[in-house]
Formats: sequence, C-alpha cells, structure tokens
Amino acid sequence: RESGLPGGKTLATFDFKALAGVPRARIEALAAGDWVETGANLIAIGNSGAGKTHVLCAIGHALVEAGRRVLYTRTTDMVQRLQAARRDLALEAALAKLDKFDLIILDDITYAQKDQAESSVLFELIARRYETKSLAIAANQPFSAWGSVFPDQAVTVAAIDRLVHHATILEMNGDSYRRRAAVTRQSPE
Ligand code: ADP
Repeated sequence: RESGLPGGKTLATFDFKALAGVPRARIEALAAGDWVETGANLIAIGNSGAGKTHVLCAIGHALVEAGRRVLYTRTTDMVQRLQAARRDLALEAALAKLDKFDLIILDDITYAQKDQAESSVLFELIARRYETKSLAIAANQPFSAWGSVFPDQAVTVAAIDRLVHHATILEMNGDSYRRRAAVTRQSPE
C-alpha cells in the first residue's frame, strides 16, 4: 500500500487501558487530524514495546481514512533513501516529492545512527517540512540522547528546536506490551 502503514495497527485494535499516562481523548483528538493542517508535529517518546508505533500508525490510518496522505517509514530507511538521492545530486527533488504527504511517520529515530546520517539528510527533511508539513516521530530515547542521530550538537539542537516548536509530545513509558502479552500467555488468570 502506498502509505506503508502496517495493517492492523489501528485505533480499533488498540487497548487504551494498557496505555499508561496518555488519555484516550488525547489520542482520539490527534486522530481527528486538524493538527496536520498547520504542519504541527507529533513526538512519541518512551521505552520499547510501550505502543508508540501502534499509536502513530493508528493515527496515520485515521488520517488516511479522512483523505489525507500519509507515509510510514523507519527512520533508517528514510535516511538511506535520502542519502542515495543526495549521491545522485537529487536530494532536492526527493524532498520535494515528499511534500505531497500531509504526514510522514518516522519510526525509531534513535536507531538511525550518526555515521549513517553524516550528511544530515534527516535534518534537511526536518528543516524543509518545518511549519508546513507534519512529522510524527517515535523515539526510544529522550531528547538528551538524540545526539547519536545527528552529525553534531549544533545540528541536533537545531533539529529538536524545529520539531518541538509546534508539537504534541506523548510520553509513553509503560510496561512493554510485548512482554506483558508474553507473561499473560504463560500464566492465564
Ligand atoms: P514501540 O513502538 O513503543 O516499541 P509497538 O507499538 O511496536 O511499541 O508495540 C509492540 C507490540 O505491542 C505491537 O505488536 C503493538 O501492536 C502491541 N501493542 C502495544 N501497545 C498496545 C496497546 N495499547 N493495545 C494493543 N496492542 C498494543
């Protein structure tokens, strides 16, 4: 499918009770999608398995249903794609092509490594979309650890600054849903 959104990770399959600290109404308001009209961002930060990917994809699916254009990608895949474009001297065209998406979901940003992002293509994407087109980002690490993603501290600060200027930040530090599901399977109540 064009959006790259994994099927099945929708609001319908999401267990809101398992999501500590983030009210259901907040997710539903985000799923309504008004925020993408102004190019605002959404950042989900929390431990692995807390449901970040699921929540962002569920919101993405809701936006697609409402007729908006959404792209889901792992951050490392996006970095590779943009670096390839840069090598071909076609970064500008590649970024312009992404403008058609109202929302790009970048999953696992802290898995993208500095050496990979050496040419700062990720920053180019963030800067280009700033205040015009939305990004939704999932991170397993707090902002203080994002230095491993960008080429140097100045770029890291500039990237975070743009991202958070107009953003909703979801702090999702719950039990790992994967681990909990495994434990429940082993000891049925
Ligand atoms: P993260 O991106 O934070 O590492 P995921 O969203 O990938 O976590 O969640 C791990 C797995 O658990 C996925 O299969 C996801 O669909 C499922 N999951 C997580 N939270 C929930 C939830 N609240 N309700 C239903 N499934 C969930």
